[in-house]
Amino acid sequence: MNSHQTRKRLVIGNWKMHGHQAANASLLDGLCAGVPAVQDCDLAVCVPFPYLGQAHASLQGSGITWGAQDVSKHEQGAFTGEVSAGMLSDFACQWVLAGHSERRTLHGETDQLVAEKAVAALNAGITPVVCVGETLAEQEAGQTDQVIARQLAPVLALGAQQVGKMVIAYEPVWAIGTGRTATPEQAQAVHAFIRSQLAGLGVPEVRVLYGGSVKASNAGSLFAMSDIDGALVGGASLMAEEFLRIAAA
Ligand code: PEP
Repeated sequence: MNSHQTRKRLVIGNWKMHGHQAANASLLDGLCAGVPAVQDCDLAVCVPFPYLGQAHASLQGSGITWGAQDVSKHEQGAFTGEVSAGMLSDFACQWVLAGHSERRTLHGETDQLVAEKAVAALNAGITPVVCVGETLAEQEAGQTDQVIARQLAPVLALGAQQVGKMVIAYEPVWAIGTGRTATPEQAQAVHAFIRSQLAGLGVPEVRVLYGGSVKASNAGSLFAMSDIDGALVGGASLMAEEFLRIAAA
């Protein structure tokens, strides 16, 4: 059995700050209608906080799971505007993104904070999807591996037991929402590096997703790479048919 057979594919949609109840209803209905055709792939959506209840109600029993795009590192308390992992659990969230590049860039999230958020999620029984990736300047300076290693360091320091329950998403910042995708070979090289870091910790079977302008037309060639276990999909996850075609790829 090759490693791709042991690591089940996973495709997660990140709706970002898009949607309203009516649009979500038709997107969620479209996903539920199409999901029976998707095989051998776990499918999930990470929706804005106010729509977690809607996702829960619509997706329950569909085979599609749901989650959030961020979580507080705190359990509870005077943290106005924050949402705890326990609250996400109340909506039966299975996933939460931690350290998406938009959070790192726009909200100053540090590598350490991202690791703390991952721990908060795990403590509530939620799988953190830890996002890492280099900027264009870092890539052009040949610093990709160095940046990824730095971002992963506080996460890997949590140890095999914790990291073994996570998902890692490699999302080169220069490919997110830009229409520029890493070539399958470029992405595979970074995934192999991440896999070597995971193997060093004794958890080589952690799933590593690729993200950055993934579409139905490029998903197949990315998923053919031995260390790419699926995708974190932004823009294309807002169209049910396109998202399902990615999952079917
Ligand atoms: C993302 O938001 O994680 C992402 C990868 O976005 P897009 O697919 O639109 O590039």
